[in-house]
This record gives sequence, C-alpha cells and structure tokens, in this order.
Amino acid sequence: MKKGGKLIVFSAPSGSGKTTIVQYLLQQEDLNLDFSVSATSRDPRGDEVHGEDYYFISLKDFKQHIKNGDFLEWEEVYRDNFYGTLKSEVERIWAQGKNVIFDIDVVGGLRIKKKYPEQTLAVFVKPPSIDELKIRLKKRKTESDERINMRIAKASVELATAPQFDYIIENNNLKKALQESHDLVADFLQKKTPSEASE
Ligand code: 5GP
Repeated sequence: MKKGGKLIVFSAPSGSGKTTIVQYLLQQEDLNLDFSVSATSRDPRGDEVHGEDYYFISLKDFKQHIKNGDFLEWEEVYRDNFYGTLKSEVERIWAQGKNVIFDIDVVGGLRIKKKYPEQTLAVFVKPPSIDELKIRLKKRKTESDERINMRIAKASVELATAPQFDYIIENNNLKKALQESHDLVADFLQKKTPSEASE
C-alpha cells in the first residue's frame, strides 16, 4: 500500500462510547477526517446502513477477500463474526487528501499501529467500569443477553491491552472525553512524522 495521510485509531471494549467520540471527531472540519468503513460478516443491527456503518458481506465473500490479500487487517472478533479493514478503503480516503479514522477492536487497532507506527495515533477509550459497561450494553437493547455476556467477557481481556496504546482516554464524562479527543487528534495531525521532518 502506498504511503498516504495519517491514521487515527480509536479502540475500546464495545459499549465504552468510542463510536460517539469517533462520530463527533468526524464532524470537526478542522481535522479533515474520513471514516474507514470496515467489512463485516455479521448481520446489520437496527438502522445500520451498508456502505456507511459497515460493508455487510457474506462469510464466503469475507473469506475470499482474506485469500486475495485485500485486507490491511482482519479479525474474527466473535465466533463467525469477521471484521476487517480493506486496503481499498484506506486508499480511497487518502486519495481525497484526508486522514483516516478507525473505530475498530483492540487487536486490529494495535496491528495498524505496528504496520504504520509513525503515521498512526492509537487511542484507547476506557469505560468507567465493567458494571457500567453492562448497563450501557443493556440500555442499547440491540442484542440478546448471551451476546451481551460475550462482549463483557471480551471487555476484560481488552482492558488489559490499554497500556500498549499511545493514549488512554477515560470516558467518565462525555463532554470532557470529546474535548480531550479533539485536542489529541488536532495536535497529532499538526506534528510532522519523523520521516517528514527529515525530508
Ligand atoms: P460491532 O459488532 O459492535 O459493530 O463491533 C464489534 C467489534 O468489532 C468492535 O470492537 C468494533 O470496533 C470491531 N471492529 C469493527 N470494525 C473492525 C475492523 O475493521 N477490524 C477489526 N479488527 N475490528 C473491527
């Protein structure tokens, strides 16, 4: 893949509020961001739209893309639920002269950071507590108890990876978390990467 703009990764256990933060950042014109739409083999939830929230594709097609080497990273986040970033998606955004923002799981987030260490800002959004996470997921009312419990079990493992990220944002107070996220991203976008600085 060609070298392009910058990559902003927001990762967190599901229910910690990272999607709200990412949506807020996308509305900030000064940041010049565009959302990396992931491909997934899971079914759409609620009013999710194909091509906006995800590219919803069959498990068979997903596996074919893996074989073709089309993914920048991919992950079986939950059993039979595959998620991945298509290289073509990042190239599409860079071609528009924009920076890419990702809302992806911790493994995928850290994988992108490892592939593009200088160009990537990796942020972990930390929920106040596992109990609070449970309450938020139940309020969402989009999934069965079994699915919610699966997400909670995964959240504990994900929390342990937080120190590997560039920054941890504690989402106790949403307004503060939004401001902090904006400032962090704006600061990172302004800075030259070490290789840009030496050009
Ligand atoms: P959800 O089913 O709630 O939309 O997403 C489940 C998890 O998969 C979330 O943690 C979400 O961030 C993650 N995810 C979404 N897209 C990608 C992707 O492209 N790659 C990886 N590794 N994880 C993703």
